[in-house]
Amino acid sequence: MPYTGKVYRPPSEARSLILQATTGCPYNRCNFCSMYSDQDFSIKSLAGFKEHIQAVKQFHRGPVESVFLADGNTIIIKTEQLLEFLETIREEFPKVERITSYGSARYVNKKSAEELKSLREAGLARTHTGMESGDADTLELINKGTTPEEIIAAGKKVKEAGIELSQYYLVGVGGQDLSEQHAVNSAKVLNHFDPEFIRLRTFIPIEGTKLHELYQKGKFKLLNAHQALAETRILIENLDVSSQLLSDHISNHWDINGRLPDDREEMLAEIEKASRVELSQFRDPAAGHL
Ligand code: SF4
Repeated sequence: MPYTGKVYRPPSEARSLILQATTGCPYNRCNFCSMYSDQDFSIKSLAGFKEHIQAVKQFHRGPVESVFLADGNTIIIKTEQLLEFLETIREEFPKVERITSYGSARYVNKKSAEELKSLREAGLARTHTGMESGDADTLELINKGTTPEEIIAAGKKVKEAGIELSQYYLVGVGGQDLSEQHAVNSAKVLNHFDPEFIRLRTFIPIEGTKLHELYQKGKFKLLNAHQALAETRILIENLDVSSQLLSDHISNHWDINGRLPDDREEMLAEIEKASRVELSQFRDPAAGHL
């Protein structure tokens, strides 16, 4: 296949054609993440990207309406070059309606509001941003490399540019010690920019990462399913947004989905129901894939 290394995409991009504009992640230091740990970061040249598209086309049949630009943090690409990539995609796939990518706050913030608007006009319709948390202590614990203020600034910029924002919240990544403040302060951050989507993932310690090491040494107390549900309840109770909240990932203990604020009570009732299920019925909190 014409791809380099392991290729990741959000579940919501299952129907999108994946094109690799970059390989790896330019940051690669979040201490819960092993996605690109064995891969150096690189950005394709325009010629390399065009070659990649021709190679992908050998395997793909039928019209392409949606494209996801992999790998991690594609938004880091200089705006001028990213505009050329977007133009190339539209030339090669004339029926394309939406182009999406990953983009952490630290890289979004390197672009001006005008640059983001030009990317939107060129077809970049949505960014997937893993803020994981909006709590300063939790962000420090996981070495995310961003602050709550930076996440807010990036969120506002993306929204103002007309790009849809899909934000990711990592349930339990603060452990038992930071669980409540992780939820409360994340809600506060999200309330500042009201993303179109808030997507829940539940933290699972991945072997080879620093957080896994801390967990094994007993220095990080993992949330069980009931505690993870309680944290999700606190998050939902504190959200003042009009976002779609989704549990569209296998790591979650229970599916909690709905539009805020209308479905808040329904989601809280669902959490209440799930909390009455015996712990033994849930997956092992330390086993599974993020
Ligand atoms: S979580 Fe995202 S930004 Fe952090 S290392 Fe993994 S891919 Fe890179």
